[in-house]
Amino acid sequence: MDYEYNLDELHKTKEEVERLSFIRDKHTNRALPKALEKQFWVMHTQRTRLNTIHFFWSGLVAYIIFILFTTPSDYLVIETQYFASDFSRCVLSVVNGALCLLIYALFARLSILKRYFYAAACLIMLWAIVVTSILMMSVQSEALKNQATLLISFIYMLGFILSGLKPIHMLMVGMLSAVFILMWLFVSDVHFHFIILTRALIGSCLLGFAISSMLVSKERMLFLNAKLAEVNEKIQRIHASEFLHLSQHDGLTQLSNRRSFDEMLDVFYLQARRDNSALGILFIDIDYFKDYNDFYGHQMGDHVIASLAKAIKNSIRHMDFVARYGGEEFVVLLPETDAQGAYAVASNIYRSVERLEIIHEKSQVSQHITISLGITVYRGETHIGQYELLSYADQALYRAKKLGRNQIYYHSCRGDRA
Ligand code: GH3
Ligand code: MG
Ligand code: MG
Repeated sequence: MDYEYNLDELHKTKEEVERLSFIRDKHTNRALPKALEKQFWVMHTQRTRLNTIHFFWSGLVAYIIFILFTTPSDYLVIETQYFASDFSRCVLSVVNGALCLLIYALFARLSILKRYFYAAACLIMLWAIVVTSILMMSVQSEALKNQATLLISFIYMLGFILSGLKPIHMLMVGMLSAVFILMWLFVSDVHFHFIILTRALIGSCLLGFAISSMLVSKERMLFLNAKLAEVNEKIQRIHASEFLHLSQHDGLTQLSNRRSFDEMLDVFYLQARRDNSALGILFIDIDYFKDYNDFYGHQMGDHVIASLAKAIKNSIRHMDFVARYGGEEFVVLLPETDAQGAYAVASNIYRSVERLEIIHEKSQVSQHITISLGITVYRGETHIGQYELLSYADQALYRAKKLGRNQIYYHSCRGDRA
């Protein structure tokens, strides 16, 4: 069956994921193999993007509360003589934060932008840290300046924990921002406490990196568990469909078996009865097949049955249904087909078997394998049951045999014959 390959692949993936889960219990910080690691980050970025969309309004409310709390309290922190310039810097940094949040959300939501979400997140973080730091470190009030380091550390933490960036990428963004900020402050000749700021910048980078690496490692474990559950589910689904296939089909011919035939007859019969439409039934039996088996062997006989099954399957229409009824007997259901149509399909089958030209030296009617076909057509008569219908088709086949085999015989349900 064509899903066997799939099943093998799935079993291999399952073993690999189990092995990785086992290793991760001991080495929690290790990255996954390349392909899985890539999948993990695609999923991670996608989840961050969706979280940004879902939690945008709560994030906005939290930011507004933050502004409402900090802006009035600026009045208490800023020294009176610097109020105008320092307060305007505070307002600018708040506006800059809001803009960063808005642009980040736009990249998460808009379909033309979402493929650049990750790159945009890197740049937005860089911009947010650098601009806020420069604005807040160039204030005059000493207390506000000291407090600014806290705000900068807070932005770093947000970047490491919530931005969805890989810890190593966020570390690079953080370090680059730190270098840029320090250089800017030196070049602009701004008075600031070098040690305090450097400690805040480097400390935030290292602490953020450690925390986000831990969180990512935990998420990798969850990802592996989810992957294992997904692979198990796929394997179970394949097994279930494999069992279903086995229970409905015949192993030698891959045609439907007697059991599915009984179910399909039920469906087709009730449909014909309900719609008052014609349902053709064809019984097919190989002629002198016992002699073939005796002469050529059972295995060759099996080949013949399989070849005939294929020929029959290729001669019927898409809407028809064929099953292996028993040993070397086949049955075909022909929905919405009257006697003429059924005869045409039977002739098709007869000719395709003829074209196979399988030598049968022991046949008494031909040098090749031949078949006998019995046809009957049901037209929705309420007094004819399924069992009776089958017996009419069987009688038709019996008559074909009796009249010399290698032929088609039609037996009407009403009693007329052809
Ligand atoms: P007739 O023309 O009257 O049909 O003669 P026949 O010999 O074909 O008679 P019948 O249909 O009763 O024969 C059934 C034979 O089919 C018996 C058995 O040897 C053979 N047969 C049934 N099932 C299989 C199978 O799965 N494989 C093989 N190789 N032979 C089978
Ligand atoms: Mg038979
Ligand atoms: Mg036979």
